Amino acid sequence: MTDQLSRRQCFLGAATALVASTFPVSADARWTQNKPAQQDSTRPRTPQEALAKLKEGNKAFLADKAREITRSAAKLAESQSPYCAILSCSDSRVPPELLFGGGLGDIFVVRNAGNVLSTAALGSLEYAVWQLNVPLIVVLGHQNCGAVSGALRVATSGDDFPGVIGNMLEPILPAAIAHRSSNNALESATKFHVTRMVGALRTRTDPLLQEPQRAGRLLVTGAYYEIADKPVQFWD
Ligand SMILES: [Zn+2]
Repeated sequence: MTDQLSRRQCFLGAATALVASTFPVSADARWTQNKPAQQDSTRPRTPQEALAKLKEGNKAFLADKAREITRSAAKLAESQSPYCAILSCSDSRVPPELLFGGGLGDIFVVRNAGNVLSTAALGSLEYAVWQLNVPLIVVLGHQNCGAVSGALRVATSGDDFPGVIGNMLEPILPAAIAHRSSNNALESATKFHVTRMVGALRTRTDPLLQEPQRAGRLLVTGAYYEIADKPVQFWD
């Protein structure tokens, strides 16, 4: 017992030392380093302004205008102040910065296959709201999504996937099961999956996301991108 205890203490001591060497500042100092730049008067402040800027950026993308790099790299090195956060699929055809005409420092992007609200994704979005004050979160689904297609295969034929891909698809299964018999099952399931992820973010009980939504300082919405030259469809 004593041996076990001392081994555990030894392990905890080593882990604490590792954390201290990785983050050589106090916890409080860590969380104050990335305060958004207050001087940026062009950054949208409200959810509505942020949404309008995203739509404008998507129009510019469709019009094939060059991307605008809005701030100098030197200024960005000090802090970031993105005007929105996007949870999107890792699919190579759906890069949010290109789709919405964003420059460096404009969009806080969280990506994984199937735009799933994993712990890492949720924590990243909470950080964007809590520390960077983003007024808008968009969950972005897209046409011919391989992850949703995989979930539909599980839902219709019980297909198995190697590695941890099957586990990764689990959060998409409710949407796949609900729409597996629809005419356009892939598109319907993808849109419903986006709506479910938006719903999960809107109804989070943690004050980090709940309070700014209640106060009207944060909008969480969904969007769908058809990979032809068509505008991104927004839920709001
Ligand atoms: Zn996808």
